[in-house]
Amino acid sequence: MIVHLNPQATAAQAEQIANQVRALYFHDGSRYVLVTGTKDNSLEGVDPALIDQHWLFDNDIQLASRSYIDHIREVRISDDLVIGGTTGHTMMITGPCSVESEEQIEVCAQLCVEQGVKMLRAGAYKPRTSPYSFQGMGLDGLKLLAKMRDKYGLKVITEVRDATHVEDVIEHTDVIQIGAKAMYDQGILRRCATAGKPVLLKRGFGSTLQEFVQAAEFLLSGGNSNVVLCERGIRTFETKTRFTLDLCGVAYLKQHTNLPVILDPSHAMGYAYGVADLARACTAMGVDGLLIESHPNPKVAKSDASQQLDHPQFRALMASLHPIAAAVGRTMI
Ligand code: PEP
Ligand code: MN
Repeated sequence: MIVHLNPQATAAQAEQIANQVRALYFHDGSRYVLVTGTKDNSLEGVDPALIDQHWLFDNDIQLASRSYIDHIREVRISDDLVIGGTTGHTMMITGPCSVESEEQIEVCAQLCVEQGVKMLRAGAYKPRTSPYSFQGMGLDGLKLLAKMRDKYGLKVITEVRDATHVEDVIEHTDVIQIGAKAMYDQGILRRCATAGKPVLLKRGFGSTLQEFVQAAEFLLSGGNSNVVLCERGIRTFETKTRFTLDLCGVAYLKQHTNLPVILDPSHAMGYAYGVADLARACTAMGVDGLLIESHPNPKVAKSDASQQLDHPQFRALMASLHPIAAAVGRTMI
């Protein structure tokens, strides 16, 4: 159950009611919002004068649900940059899998500027499958990303791998990425709920849509309303591609949730050869954004070498996406 308290209700009253009905609560800028589990769907004993409106749910997709907010939320990155809402934009986010050196990330930043891409992505803390693989540049990588942001006027997104460096990521990035492997990490989710920065939450590759959106509920119920969902492929019986991009799941999320959805065909496919076709298919679905890995020289990339587009491939992809976005009433930015 979601309960909007009367805007006049005080913090003390919100706390008292929350204790009484066993709710989480936060202030959404206009009023206190209380959220209970489906087993606690009762307002018995609460002064009706303190309640503005309430919504009942039969499962724990609540704050993210279209029956609570009947439109896609506007996730504000800065005064002039928004994901979702009614912008009609499909936002391209690109950059390498990992920050590897200043020279490498600078060439990537320059590609963004050249192509009109507003957000640069790269990991500094990589959640690798093997402990012997490159683990990322850490804080030095974050500082390089921040340097590119300042030098080129870009926004940056980078991932938090675990709770040990969550404060550093929050400090240096514009958008916090919670990766597929970190989607279930309660420490990360709870900290990012109060970080005051937008979060891009990737779907765990073994997660159902219900589990995925419930992870988003941790962020939303902690008071962070700026959450973007990212489908990046799930594990199926298929082994010829790295994962399987769940476009049916994307259709479900667009229909049933109020969160912007972006797609990451790079990690789903695992091979550069399929990324452009998938990106075009995703764009035709009218999604709110795309995340594409690109690298000045993918052959020598320290992580995800097989799937990153080189820069000529990225330029060709961008040129092909503009008319597709236009055909579905959108603008690729
Ligand atoms: C990434 O974006 O580089 C990444 C590690 O993605 P995922 O969490 O989806 O595997
Ligand atoms: Mn990667």
